[in-house]
Amino acid sequence: MSAAEMSAIQSDVLVIGCGIAGASTALRLAQDSQRQITVITRATEPEESNTRYAQGGIVTRGEDDSADLIVKDILAAGAGLSLPSAARILAEEGPRLVREVLLETADVAFDHTSDGRLAYGREAAHSRPRILHVGDATGKAIIQALIAMLRKKPNVRIVTSATAVDLITFSHHARDPLTVYEPITCHGAYVFERPRRAVRRYLAGTTVLATGGLGRIYRHTTNPKGARGDGLAMAYRAGARVINAEYVQFHPTTLAVADGEGFLISEAVRGEGGRLLTPDGRRFMTEYAPKWGDLAPRDVVARAIHHEMIEHGYPHVLLDIGSIIAADRIRERFPTIHARCLSLGLDITREPIPVVPAAHYFCGGVWTDEWGRTTVHNLYAVGEAACTGVHGANRLASTSLLEGLVWGNRAARDIAARSPTSIADAEAVPRWEEEGLEEDADPALIWRDMRTIQHTMWHYVGLVRSTRRLTRALLDLKHLDQDIDNFYRATRLNDALIGLRHSVQAALIVASAAQHNRESRGCHYRADTKGMAAI
Ligand SMILES: Cc1cc2nc3c(=O)[nH]c(=O)nc-3n(C[C@H](O)[C@H](O)[C@H](O)COP(=O)(O)OP(=O)(O)OC[C@H]3O[C@@H](n4cnc5c(N)ncnc54)[C@H](O)[C@@H]3O)c2cc1C
Repeated sequence: MSAAEMSAIQSDVLVIGCGIAGASTALRLAQDSQRQITVITRATEPEESNTRYAQGGIVTRGEDDSADLIVKDILAAGAGLSLPSAARILAEEGPRLVREVLLETADVAFDHTSDGRLAYGREAAHSRPRILHVGDATGKAIIQALIAMLRKKPNVRIVTSATAVDLITFSHHARDPLTVYEPITCHGAYVFERPRRAVRRYLAGTTVLATGGLGRIYRHTTNPKGARGDGLAMAYRAGARVINAEYVQFHPTTLAVADGEGFLISEAVRGEGGRLLTPDGRRFMTEYAPKWGDLAPRDVVARAIHHEMIEHGYPHVLLDIGSIIAADRIRERFPTIHARCLSLGLDITREPIPVVPAAHYFCGGVWTDEWGRTTVHNLYAVGEAACTGVHGANRLASTSLLEGLVWGNRAARDIAARSPTSIADAEAVPRWEEEGLEEDADPALIWRDMRTIQHTMWHYVGLVRSTRRLTRALLDLKHLDQDIDNFYRATRLNDALIGLRHSVQAALIVASAAQHNRESRGCHYRADTKGMAAI
């Protein structure tokens, strides 16, 4: 046992992650002053998460809009795999929660029109303008407001720099061997506390997984560092049901210059006339989509770029807007993109933008019912880590923030309606064993292994999949998983090593699901089998 191992922390509810989903859960739970809630995040600031980077906005009900229309649009985007009852919950409850929680309580300063009404934006595949936004930094405004409220709650403890390593389930961790005959039940998590460099037991009557997505298991992604599938891997190891893991949504155009990787280049740039070119100046979209050219649907463009890159060995393609429209217009229409690129030494009014597609959103996840309950007792999952069925095989733009808000609230209401679940006796749960581990994890090994996962996923389990690619991916990932597991057991823990172990397991989950599903649908595209055309 490490000297730094302290006594266990006990709470009624442990929330792992504080993006929009975890923060919404904790805020609703905190209404009951008798419940003690602990919120942990691996980040050094609670505001750091995928939520912080959300640009476009959050769906609500627009002016000439209805729940029926929202459901219709979600189901159309989901390519026949969205669960209608889940879409209905989102469409019915979402707009009310946006008003009550974000507008009236958190006071998020959503943009208004010049005559003082809320400004509803419209995005691809939405039949009505219904997206509330705060400039192009909506997620940041939302999460700052939610965390500010959470900090004021006396019964909420926020612990930063705290990475969950494993969920505590008695069938895996109890001292009493007979617990193996009981249903799998979660009693909290083992958590690595970075300042102490030690793992502590966080025991809780109920645990909520709100760890977000997994974009970082891909070479190119819009997701920030923490999105590595931690929650997915932990829940899977604990025995929770995971579904729809093959559905990873890709964005067609993200910046491909040093220090700017993953920055979104809005599809509106092509909407304004932007043209895709190979690095040697060849227009290629008409070869892939003669009717649409550069304005082809998102998935078609993403696959075409990917194909060009693989076929010709290009590190990226180019998106030219500077020679199409006037510089003033570019600065006025795309102020953030223009400023960001300029800060990286790229003047988009004069030079084409190097772009690559990138993993953007995980539609699958830990299966939950309409209240966020998983198949493991006393374990809930909310937000991008969960799969409620809303997104089916492809996500409708700007619905994920809303899903986090709605299911965070629902999970909290369900937990609040139950009498507090008893917290496991600390004596029954072994402390984390680190005895004899003196060696620190070698950062070169972690970096290299992570890169191998990312390249494997990008090339073999990315935009275009085939039996041959997936078989190869699974072979490589299984081998790597074994190596990483050995490495993990022989070395002192740190956040990067925990993340590496979670990432390889998340990658295996996605690759296996993709291998088993031979039908192209939504964002899962199999080049070697027949199926529905990808949308
Ligand atoms: C660039 C970009 C633009 C986007 N634009 C939009 C948009 O306009 N509209 C929209 O609806 N959606 C958008 N999305 C998607 C949306 O931001 C996410 O789906 C959503 O924010 C996920 O929220 P979440 O609470 O589930 O997870 P996150 O916000 O990712 O939060 C996850 C939390 O879990 C913590 N965590 C992770 N692992 C661990 C661990 N092992 N231990 C402890 N803590 C852990 C993290 O630190 C973090 O606090 C965008 C995403 C990106 C990346």
